[in-house]
Amino acid sequence: MSGPVCDFCASREVLWEYPARDFVLPIVETTSFLSLGGWCACQKCYQLIEEGDAEGLKKRIAIQHGIDLSRGGAVSALLSRQIQEFFQYRTGPPTRIYQREAPHVIE
Ligand SMILES: [Zn+2]
Repeated sequence: MSGPVCDFCASREVLWEYPARDFVLPIVETTSFLSLGGWCACQKCYQLIEEGDAEGLKKRIAIQHGIDLSRGGAVSALLSRQIQEFFQYRTGPPTRIYQREAPHVIE
């Protein structure tokens, strides 16, 4: 496995990159992860982000990662927080990424 994945839903069809400041991303209550630089996004997530549809984005992430939001609780709250932080720390408009049509072989 190599190459970019969508930082939201883990799709491999990454088309956009959002510039963002580095920030500490909460993973679980006691652990966090330092988010460095930009965030990659696929077309679907890009559309949700551009519409400012945090709820839609959250649902999509949950579906793609097999998270059951109907149970609410900590995971749901955490996901909301991660999305909020993304909106807060992004620094500008996204850049379109043009992927190669043929698989790129790294030598
Ligand atoms: Zn995505």
